[in-house]
Amino acid sequence: MSAVVEEPENAPVGGGPDRFVYVQTFGCQMNVVDTDRIFQVLAPLRYQPTDDPSRADLILLNTCSVREKAEQKMLSELGRLAPLKDFNDDLVLGVAGCVAQQEGARLLDKVPYLDLVMGPDNIAQLPGILERVRAGGGRVAETTFAGRKDYEFIEAVPQSPGKVSEFVTIMKGCDKVCTFCIVPFTRGREVSKPAELVVREVETLVASGVREVTLLGQNVNSYGKDRERQPHFAELLRAVDAVPGLERLRFTTSHPTDCTDELIDCFGELRTLCEAFHLPVQCGSDRVLQAMRRPYTVEHYLGRVARLRSRVPDMALTTDIMVGFPGETEAEFEATLALLAEVRYSSIFAFKYSARPGTRAASMPDDVPEAEKQRRLREVQRLQDGIYDAMLADHHDKTFEVLVEGPSRNAARGGPDALQLMGRTRQNIVVNFPVPVGDLWSRRWIGKLAPVRVDRVHSHSLHGQLA
Ligand code: SF4
Repeated sequence: MSAVVEEPENAPVGGGPDRFVYVQTFGCQMNVVDTDRIFQVLAPLRYQPTDDPSRADLILLNTCSVREKAEQKMLSELGRLAPLKDFNDDLVLGVAGCVAQQEGARLLDKVPYLDLVMGPDNIAQLPGILERVRAGGGRVAETTFAGRKDYEFIEAVPQSPGKVSEFVTIMKGCDKVCTFCIVPFTRGREVSKPAELVVREVETLVASGVREVTLLGQNVNSYGKDRERQPHFAELLRAVDAVPGLERLRFTTSHPTDCTDELIDCFGELRTLCEAFHLPVQCGSDRVLQAMRRPYTVEHYLGRVARLRSRVPDMALTTDIMVGFPGETEAEFEATLALLAEVRYSSIFAFKYSARPGTRAASMPDDVPEAEKQRRLREVQRLQDGIYDAMLADHHDKTFEVLVEGPSRNAARGGPDALQLMGRTRQNIVVNFPVPVGDLWSRRWIGKLAPVRVDRVHSHSLHGQLA
């Protein structure tokens, strides 16, 4: 089901004054996309986004509870923003996102100057919630999970004109319930966005100039399993790949259990599907995987990797690694190092375990000392840095197809007669390269595919010349 964003009765009309909304976004890409949807539902009320909280009539903290001490960080940020209420009687201060979902009305008790609390499932209702707050209906906490049948996806419209690459949410929630993870409690059960809506959003984005989309969800490769007669993930990839004008297709995040042969076979077959796959493994020990409630073995995982690489030898694999899970022994940790050395990921997200209240792992003894967790994390990072350096060095003198995103952060470094542009290879590696200043650089290159020959390898990126 998709939601049409309608103007509530108290929306300013005609030439009425604009209001400003400031949203501070914490956490993952899902939250970044949610912030875009917040701006989208507020646009009919003539709220304009602002980067300056002192101008805002509405301030929202879009929170994440995956990271440690999320609530304390959010509370201290609220404390920093609260004095703005002394200068603007109409200012509404709210908390959205996963911490809001977890805490609900308790947050209103803890923070007397807070006006609204809203979960990720309630973004479509934000205009009505605001109406209640502004009409003097008191302070509002709205954190109800919509059921599978009732969940309303907001049909996304492009929020940032000129962007080359965009995210498209294809589902929400997660049914896996890993013992360390808070997401199933803050985002609810899996609900897949109807395939025709996903395709329509991609078509709209492509028409606005987007050339690359990343399909987004907590567990995208279980897409479609929650609905009868819904295409599954590989079929959705095929449908999106067929959108005219789309150059590149990516997706994140996946679960090894749902990494089917049919999905793997899409690589190398679908023109737009990039040779990059984020496949979180978490650790290299079957016992720890079981304790994490990750229902696969290391052998199964390595089998998936082997099949992927036999189809696409230059596949860039990335992963998530957690060290210091309750009960993780030195030998089990070394198994994780061995796995990293065997798979040779192009990048990893590595974390120390820390308990999240309400998860099953939080009731297990957190028995790996903090200093030991830190040592394990450092070892993982040191090993991975060496793998990545060797991998990047291998790119020297080779030519890659780069999708140009815009001027690089150090655009002037191209030299006195050149500007430096930035793009990515299909494997998602950043490449900077100069183009002549007189080359109408911004118009001509952005959104184009450029062949670039690598002449320098930096620690996190490549540098090259147009081939
Ligand atoms: S699959 Fe991912 S999002 Fe789902 S519970 Fe496990 S870690 Fe959390």
